[in-house]
This record gives sequence, C-alpha cells and structure tokens, in this order.
Amino acid sequence: MYHYPLFADCTCSYEDAKFVLFGVPFDATSCFRSGSRDAPAALRAASYNFETYHHDLDIDLSEVPMCDIGDMEAHGDVEGVLSLVYTELRCHMENGKVPIMMGGEHSLTIGCIRAACDVYDDVGMVVLDAHLDLRQEYGGSEHSHACTSYQCLRFLSPERYACIGVRSGSKEEFEFAKRMRLTYVPAQRVRDEGIKRVLDDVLDNLKCAQVYVSIDADVVDPAYAPAVGTPEPFGLTPEDVRHAIRTLAPMAVGMDVVEITPQYDGGQTALLFSRLIREFIAAKTRCTGKPSGSM
Ligand code: MN
Ligand code: MN
Repeated sequence: MYHYPLFADCTCSYEDAKFVLFGVPFDATSCFRSGSRDAPAALRAASYNFETYHHDLDIDLSEVPMCDIGDMEAHGDVEGVLSLVYTELRCHMENGKVPIMMGGEHSLTIGCIRAACDVYDDVGMVVLDAHLDLRQEYGGSEHSHACTSYQCLRFLSPERYACIGVRSGSKEEFEFAKRMRLTYVPAQRVRDEGIKRVLDDVLDNLKCAQVYVSIDADVVDPAYAPAVGTPEPFGLTPEDVRHAIRTLAPMAVGMDVVEITPQYDGGQTALLFSRLIREFIAAKTRCTGKPSGSM
C-alpha cells in the first residue's frame, strides 16, 4: 500500500474505522481513453474542497470513523489484480467495515462482487452505468471493463442485479439482458419518470436485503462529467446519482467509483465524484446513527 495524501477527514485508525477507503490505480483493459489509474489521487485532492459539515444530512464527516489505507499496488494482468481486489475486499467485509474503492477501471468491480457474495448471504448489486457491460469477451479478455456485469452475474442470480442509466450496448448485450430478465433502466426512463420512482421500482423488484453499489462515472452526462473512459451523451444528472446514493446507502455493504480519467477535464469530474463519495458516507452514517460526540 502507498500512503498520503489521504482522502479528507480520514483521521481514524483502521481498527476503529467503519468506512475504509482505498484506491486501485489500474486501467490496463480500458479501450477508448485510459487514465483512470490517476483517479484515486484526483479524488483525494478534490476531497479537500469540501466542508467537513454536511448540511443537508446534518453529519460532520470529521466525526465519522473513516480511514484511507492508500492505494493497492495494482501491477500485472487483470486476473492477478482482480484476485488482489477480491482478497482486499473480503478482508474488510469480514472485519465488519464498509469498503469504498476508488478505481481504476470498472473490471475491478468483479473482484468486489465476488467478495461481497462470499461474505454476505443476502446481497445483490446495483450498478449505475451508461453501458450494459454484458460482453462475454472484449479485446481478448473476458475480464475487460466491457464485461463487468456479465462477470458479476457469475456470482449473482439475475433477480439480485439492477443497472440504472443505460444508453449503450451491443444488440447481443440487450438480447442477453432480455433473455436473462435482467433489470436495466435506460437513462431516458430516469429522465421521463424521475429517479425516485425508478429507484422505488428497482428496490421493489430486487430480491435481496443488502446491495453492493458500483458507480461507473460515465452514467452521468458528459456535460457534468466529461473525464471518463468512454463518455456517452444523454446521461443522468448529478442530482439523480446523489438521490440514488442516498437511497441505497442504508442497505449498502460497500461502494466503488470507477472509470474517471482526470486528464480529460479541468477537475470537475473528480470534484463531483469526490463529493458523491462523501454523500455516501454521510447518508450511511445518517441511517446507522450519528457518531458519538456529535449529538
Ligand atoms: Mn462500466
Ligand atoms: Mn460505462
């Protein structure tokens, strides 16, 4: 693990922490724009922009038990890195922590879901993504970032999976999704019906008590988040994603934010997702009771 600079307000020891943040600077399978290996550092730098006090949720993040254990040394092939991510996540989950992974590319989530399914009996997955990621193979690898959901469904039954914000995939991927009766919500439906109604619907259909939340940054419209590996127009708004995070945080066993490529904008993409990580921590703390000393 590398250390420093840490994500803002991560002043707690690992032993006492409820939330454990870590980075995985790995983007070897990215096809259009690589560079998500730089995202953990950009997310940490951006985190110092914000007040420790979260007004809407009345949570002071400086009082929340959270730690940042640095970046994993993610070298080598994707299979090797996935195995490291799996071991890392599994360890934190078995220790009763809520891990928050800062990618890196979306393929890393495969290791997270495998760990979540091994540790928790009743867990599912909600992924926010412009893409279905249901390819069986891409660029010579079955662990490419274009295959994430397909691979995760090896560990999850289809009724424990939902994808929100979709607006891109091959014909075969959409046919596979229909054949498997997967829940996927097009971005246009979020626009037409509103994120609140969509989430109510998704949670009604999801057959699990807990979820792992994976946020592919390209789910947000490129007007708000241009620095992503594979930008796709007509996306969700930042408010949509914030609402999803606030709704899902109480039942979440962990979260990741992936596919940010910081060099493709003026810093606003890392700022947005750094803020959304803080939103997740505040929302989850809100529902499990405020930290001691803050009443
Ligand atoms: Mn993805
Ligand atoms: Mn995507």
